[in-house]
Amino acid sequence: MTFEDLGLSPDTLKAVADAGYQTPTPIQEQAIPLVLMGRDVIGIAQTGTGKTAGFTLPMIDILAEGRAKARMPRSLIIAPTRELAAQISDNFVKYGKYHPLSMALLIGGESMGDQEKTLDRGVDVLIATPGRLLDHFERGRILLNDVKILVIDEADRMLDMGFIPDVERIVSLLPKIRQTLFFSATMNEEIRKLTEQFLMNPKVVQATPPATAATTIAQAVVIVRPEDKRECLRRLIRAEHLVNAFIFCNRKRDVDILFKSLTKHGFNAVGLHGDMPQPKRMEMLAKFKSGEAEYLVCSDVAARGLDITGVSHVINFDVPFNPEDYVHRIGRTGRAGKQGHAVTIATPYDGKAWAAIESLVKQPIPILAEAAIEDLKVAFSSSDAEGDGAPRGPRGRAKGGRSHGKDRGRDRKPARKPRYAQAPTVDGPVAPVAAAEIMPMTQPAAIPAEPVVQPDAPRREPRRSRPSQDKWARDAGRMDHPDDVLGFGSAVPAFLQQFGPPRPRSPEIPEELPAEDEA
Ligand code: AMP
Repeated sequence: MTFEDLGLSPDTLKAVADAGYQTPTPIQEQAIPLVLMGRDVIGIAQTGTGKTAGFTLPMIDILAEGRAKARMPRSLIIAPTRELAAQISDNFVKYGKYHPLSMALLIGGESMGDQEKTLDRGVDVLIATPGRLLDHFERGRILLNDVKILVIDEADRMLDMGFIPDVERIVSLLPKIRQTLFFSATMNEEIRKLTEQFLMNPKVVQATPPATAATTIAQAVVIVRPEDKRECLRRLIRAEHLVNAFIFCNRKRDVDILFKSLTKHGFNAVGLHGDMPQPKRMEMLAKFKSGEAEYLVCSDVAARGLDITGVSHVINFDVPFNPEDYVHRIGRTGRAGKQGHAVTIATPYDGKAWAAIESLVKQPIPILAEAAIEDLKVAFSSSDAEGDGAPRGPRGRAKGGRSHGKDRGRDRKPARKPRYAQAPTVDGPVAPVAAAEIMPMTQPAAIPAEPVVQPDAPRREPRRSRPSQDKWARDAGRMDHPDDVLGFGSAVPAFLQQFGPPRPRSPEIPEELPAEDEA
């Protein structure tokens, strides 16, 4: 099938050709004719499937007829995050270049005044995050009773982020007679109920997940002591051929700390999390996208939907609390048929969360067999920047060797690998990382394209072991043997056993990143 077969206008087809697309993706093939017919559509599709063009292209043709009135948008797209909303707006600009459509992007963190001025001029397409849209509505700056097409994008993410009450409120402000397009990466009971609430006689289209996503990501886990995580990260980064990477932390404050630490070590990093002012978020993302920065230290706000091709690695600095987040995080690499690598830095205390991830991806993820940081020295010897062959202490520092002062990272940086700008194109494979020599990453792991969410299963964060809990568990006889690890009883997974009995020192996952002298 070609784009010409889908019923799009010549101007839209021209924009598609300009974008370099040859054939429609499966979701586009199914969704575009239905949207052009005016049907309500449920799209089960994740990012990477071409779903944005699947709704944007037909919307442009539908909206080509008619004119916008001041403060009364003709279509509304709601997205869970500012970055996703901005990405959708980029798509409208790209595909709508031959149509004189007006557009407004209403996202938090940017001037209300500027957004109001755009609304006053009248817009055909309004793209918004739920909170900011309601802010404008409460101020009386916007009327939603002329909206003919509503798009709800990433509905499952909205649910996770607690936005559904806002979405319900927004939908209640729209005309009952409208066309609704609803996209979600996953479908469970809660999502199904929402579709019944928001759509009329919808057609369901489902994207076969991009075949490549499941097969092009080589995964591995490295297990180190909590205080060794940053050193381990630096060694991973220095591994040859690591072109660029998303580095995920579980907590926003750790994003800030890790970003500062990497920068101090001379790495070209930027940081991104939800508490940063919007202009800063956009600036950081733009730097990473353009290749100006090689490492994006981020929270899960960046885990979903961001479409940046050519990212060679995802590094989980923390094991995510929710296994679904693992799948979304690693989906930032291995896109568009390119080889991707996902390496997770775990500690012996992450066993339970890790087991949940392996159960979700339905396969064991290769573990770096000799996981202690000293062995990483050996493991990374082919690209070890110090190259002095000195034995390492428990923190990977040269025993009796050179001092590790503040600028040690700069001293030890290896000759730079190819930069992002020189990264292979979509069709070219990314060369395997040196780490592949020591991590069994040669067999790309098949991951489910989307998380399997049990209907109605409440999302629970794995409970973390605390010293008091540990003591309590022992006192209460919950640990049968002194070598048992809290939560596992005697069934301690092999990879935790190599660390022996729990250390007398705090066994908890530290609230703060482990202290380092300079970070
Ligand atoms: P999305 O799933 O909407 O985030 O799109 C993922 C990526 O696929 C984006 O970079 C689009 O530019 C690209 N894309 C969308 N449709 C096509 C197509 N028909 N052919 C090639 N690339 C496409």
